[in-house]
Amino acid sequence: MDSRIIDRLGRPIKDLRISVIDKCNFRCSYCMPAEIFGPDYLFMPEKERLSFDEIIRLVHIFAQFGVEKIRLTGGEPLLRKDLDVLIRRIREIDGIKDIALTTNAVMLVKQAEKLKASGLDRVNISLDAIEDEVFKKTNGRGVHTDPVLRGIEAARKAGLGIKINMVVKKGMNEDQILPMARYFKKTADNLRFIEFMEVGNHNGWNMDAVVSKKAIVDAIHEEMPLIPAEANYYGEVASRYQYEDGAGEIGIISSVTEAFCSSCTRARLSADGQLYTCLFADSGYDLRGRLREDWSDEDLTDYLMAVWEGRADQYSADRARGKPMKERKIEMSYIGG
Ligand code: SAM
Ligand code: SF4
Ligand code: SF4
Repeated sequence: MDSRIIDRLGRPIKDLRISVIDKCNFRCSYCMPAEIFGPDYLFMPEKERLSFDEIIRLVHIFAQFGVEKIRLTGGEPLLRKDLDVLIRRIREIDGIKDIALTTNAVMLVKQAEKLKASGLDRVNISLDAIEDEVFKKTNGRGVHTDPVLRGIEAARKAGLGIKINMVVKKGMNEDQILPMARYFKKTADNLRFIEFMEVGNHNGWNMDAVVSKKAIVDAIHEEMPLIPAEANYYGEVASRYQYEDGAGEIGIISSVTEAFCSSCTRARLSADGQLYTCLFADSGYDLRGRLREDWSDEDLTDYLMAVWEGRADQYSADRARGKPMKERKIEMSYIGG
């Protein structure tokens, strides 16, 4: 098997992000606004979700043609029952070098040890504010920072790698950039700021609500001087900056103001088994249907290779060049970021 399969823009496939559930215990306004995702919202019935056996079968095939990193996401992935069992099975697959989880960490205190023991390497923990009153609003459910901070400590104690992700949106939490930087400089955790993106159809995105990478770096640099650092590896999404005094680093994920499509090595699998080759795709490739129609491993492999070889997505780069935006996009809670 040729493990160097590349798409039409010369990009290999390296990462697979798997959404394991579309439900969430938060209602972040930029992702699952409570007005849309209310009590009557119809989430995916359980039987529509890929089973662990189905996920494992796909990961085996992806690993054969280059996927090395798996990220489990959601919705809130810790709401999926027995996630540790899935992680243990992914860990056994040849070629998978890294398993990460993106979570809001509210349920991490109870699960961190078990997840680490099953083979999880790292967690990216989302936290949009360090001040309780701001955070209670950003998460849309009035949740305090305390359970998240305890989740971070549980991850640390368990020996998991930790990154903290903060989405920055004007009018929501830009006043938290400095307090968050100060807090996580002290704990020496890698804090990454994410520009508010126009994923989905309900979050009312507009360019005026984006706080640019430059504005974020400038604000921090003024108080805590920063030096730009080299990328750790090809396809790294965050631009890295180290604190001049040696006290750790921050990252900025600038998908809006500085697109990184030219090195995008990521594919995404929704909880119901649709494969997306771009975060901003409007349609996916139905893998669940093919799995449930008993396609052979050979046929699935040929199909997936053809999908990747045909891939030409570069939505953010196109938008930066002024191409009109798509009318309808998939929701972030469905595809998992
Ligand atoms: N619930 C988990 C969490 O929040 O970590 C995992 C799923 S969430 C969809 C994955 C990541 O996407 C989170 O870090 C979240 O902040 C980010 N995200 C969601 N909507 C976004 C948006 N409109 N712009 C930028 N990042 C977004
Ligand atoms: Fe839930 Fe994560 Fe979306 Fe917030 S960003 S609503 S925690 S899925
Ligand atoms: Fe990758 Fe699409 Fe994002 Fe570009 S816009 S970095 S191709 S997911």
